[in-house]
Amino acid sequence: MPFARRFLAPLLAAILAAPALAHAAESPRAANTWITEAQAMARSARVSNVAYTLDFALTGKPDFAGSSGIVFDLADTAAPVTIDLDKATITALTVNGKTATPDYNGFFLTIAPAQLRKGRNHIVVAYTRAHSTNGEGLHRMVDPVDGRVYTYSHFEPAAAHQMFALFDQPDLKATFAVTVTAPADWVVVSTKRESAVSAAADGMRRWTFPASKKLSPYNFSLHAGPYKVWEDNSGPYPMRLLARQSVAAQVAPADWFRYTKAGLNFFDQYFGVPYQWEKYDQLLVPDFLYGAMENAGAVTFAERGFLHKSAMTDSQREGLAETIMHEMAHQWFGDLVTMKWWNGLWLNESFASFMGTLATADATEFKHAWLSFYATAKQGAYATDQSVATHPIEVPVASTANAFDNIDSITYAKGASTLMQLRQLLGAEVFRKGVHNYLQRYAFQNARLDDFIGSLGRAAGRDLRPWTRDWLYQPGVNTISADYRCKDGAIASFTLRQSAPAAFPTLREQRVQVASFVREGAGLRLAASAPVTYRGAATAVPALVGSACPALVYPNYQDWGFAKVALDRQSFATAQALASEVADPLLRSMLWVSLWDGVRDGQLPLNEFIATAVARAPAETDPTLLASILGMLGRSRTYLDAMHADPAYVAARAGEIEDMAWRAMAASGNDANTQRRWFAFYVANASSKDGLGRLAGLLDGSVKVAGLEVGQDQRWSIIARLNRFDYPGSAALIASESVKDGSDAGQAAALAATVGRPDPAIKREWLAKVQDPATPLPFSKLRVAMGSLYPVEQAALNEASAGERLASLPALDKRAGPVFMRSYATLIPATCSPASVKRLDAAAASYTDLAAGTRRALLTQREEDQRCVTISGAMTAGAPQR
Ligand SMILES: [Zn+2]
Repeated sequence: MPFARRFLAPLLAAILAAPALAHAAESPRAANTWITEAQAMARSARVSNVAYTLDFALTGKPDFAGSSGIVFDLADTAAPVTIDLDKATITALTVNGKTATPDYNGFFLTIAPAQLRKGRNHIVVAYTRAHSTNGEGLHRMVDPVDGRVYTYSHFEPAAAHQMFALFDQPDLKATFAVTVTAPADWVVVSTKRESAVSAAADGMRRWTFPASKKLSPYNFSLHAGPYKVWEDNSGPYPMRLLARQSVAAQVAPADWFRYTKAGLNFFDQYFGVPYQWEKYDQLLVPDFLYGAMENAGAVTFAERGFLHKSAMTDSQREGLAETIMHEMAHQWFGDLVTMKWWNGLWLNESFASFMGTLATADATEFKHAWLSFYATAKQGAYATDQSVATHPIEVPVASTANAFDNIDSITYAKGASTLMQLRQLLGAEVFRKGVHNYLQRYAFQNARLDDFIGSLGRAAGRDLRPWTRDWLYQPGVNTISADYRCKDGAIASFTLRQSAPAAFPTLREQRVQVASFVREGAGLRLAASAPVTYRGAATAVPALVGSACPALVYPNYQDWGFAKVALDRQSFATAQALASEVADPLLRSMLWVSLWDGVRDGQLPLNEFIATAVARAPAETDPTLLASILGMLGRSRTYLDAMHADPAYVAARAGEIEDMAWRAMAASGNDANTQRRWFAFYVANASSKDGLGRLAGLLDGSVKVAGLEVGQDQRWSIIARLNRFDYPGSAALIASESVKDGSDAGQAAALAATVGRPDPAIKREWLAKVQDPATPLPFSKLRVAMGSLYPVEQAALNEASAGERLASLPALDKRAGPVFMRSYATLIPATCSPASVKRLDAAAASYTDLAAGTRRALLTQREEDQRCVTISGAMTAGAPQR
């Protein structure tokens, strides 16, 4: 595949671009919002040197008017040219100075050859269009608190044509000159700062933005509304932060500017190429589909992820710092140098995830950023890579409809881990030099994977093609284990073994560090360690021979490599006994992961893991690790609720978890970060009558916990939990709290609390709304509903509509787009029984033409359902089955 693909794509593009065949390439473009790779490549083979002059008339009303001036060079006039513009009403079209009748199907315009010229062409499209409410294009939102209207753009992967007329593909970079008419109290933000703002008719103002440097369309952006603006000019480039007026009090601009400034200094130095977009704007925006987006010089962030009504905890600030760094890394790697087509999106994301973590560790107070990466993102990658959802890091992307099919923990975190490994393998400075050369060489252009790897290879003086083939074009994770023998208290032989799953037999080259530990006092002491570069199934490690016979061997010490670690029997026993006693937080984290792997693989009974975690979590002092252990315990609780065990047994285990959490929360009053962590865990796990009663008491003030502040965010989380268990009076709490907090976030919280109630009428009502193609609800609301509709313990309600949800999957998949289906995947029924697994098997067998993303979601649900059944079976001791 890699070879065929590398040579086929340019060849195909060349063939398709040949005059005789070009028409054949463009004419079959289906009347829909997507463009295929072949069509896009055929277009960029003929079109070049693009410049846009855009004008927008924004009033705050649901519609807007626009005009797109498009100037470009055309190689030939043998075939029509298509211009993307989604669901607009075209009011005028001129092609090369002549008025033309639009040939428009609601998705793209077709400009006939007779209207075109070889060489420079100038097309102007005037149109009106509704603002989007789906989070793409030019999204519009009315603030429920004060009625103010906010707009922002979001284009990735290919939604710029939901806002203006263009060639919507990443390899047609262009300059963007913009004018905007907007209400007088609005601020307008784009890639560059405005050069003029003048008064216009009807109390409006007219904003002028000079032509930008060359950008891929999805990196251009425009945001407009009565945003509150903070400014800071203390860094190397001017910085601004924007947010809605009604949430301004929740923003901590000092934190934002501090991390931003640190990042700009770090990246300028690391890349050795100065930041190119002159100023750095960041906006908190509502209804945002993703976490954040790296628009050049005007980055958008989801309010949902980064706005908090209470002071941020350390871990929330760490998340903010890391996201700021991730998006900033994209300003070079993604915006300055851009992938040619969407198959290269993974490298953008992997690189930004890798560099974001590096910058966070290096340039902020969060020195433990790599531990956080290991405990969260990397575990997601391991899980996905061992699942039915695995895929090579680099895969073809047939059409813009598929651009996000493979955007998951493989593309973000496994990709980032392979880059981290490559840096270990080549050396940190060689790696940096290779990145610098790549950015220098391809600035303001598009590049392919081979260009990037080639640059690293040249810096290292090494052919990286075999490495690339094994790591980037083959799926699956290798398992490594230590095979050693002791004699007279010392290691007599040591072999590092590598294995692969039967389906993906590739063995890989990797540089790791093997370490052995001996018992000392209550804990463990490092006895010996050695770096090892291994390739095949068995690699001798002579450096460890002669060192003390260990209690524990860890073959990926300090986390250089991407490999599943299988502990030997002795080491696993040590991990179980001493996981909490290890001083090094990263190693401690790795041992907890080994225990959790044991549960997921059906080797360690769930009840044993729960007992270990309940006994040790309260004493965990590292905040990242505490979060990680509580995450595992939370998933344990989900398994407990899902499996069909004796309810009295489940209630007893759940009670132990609940009591532990309450005591730990009460005991951590002198540490707000830890207490907030325990509070969140307690709310997510309280289910007994007493436990829910305590929550109700915290809400009405009759119960107090020293140090704990119950703010608006915490109040909503309590109300959702009480409603989920139909606690007496809980429905009325939603109504009364909504009166106090009518904000956008308050409305979302109220909706989540409502749909989570164990009420068949609510389930029917909201399932119908979610499945209704003509629903007037914005996607942001539907997404909230989907995420909260069937809590795990509401098994009977879940089962009641399970068959119907599964049966309607193919029709819904045909009708709804990939963004919707990604959220809908949570409604694919998996209820942890052999019958449920069988039902999913039958669906997988008969629904063979689902979109790739939906099919993968179906298979993943089936696999996780089977895992739940297996874990249930492994939990024999004292767990009678219902
Ligand atoms: Zn990213």
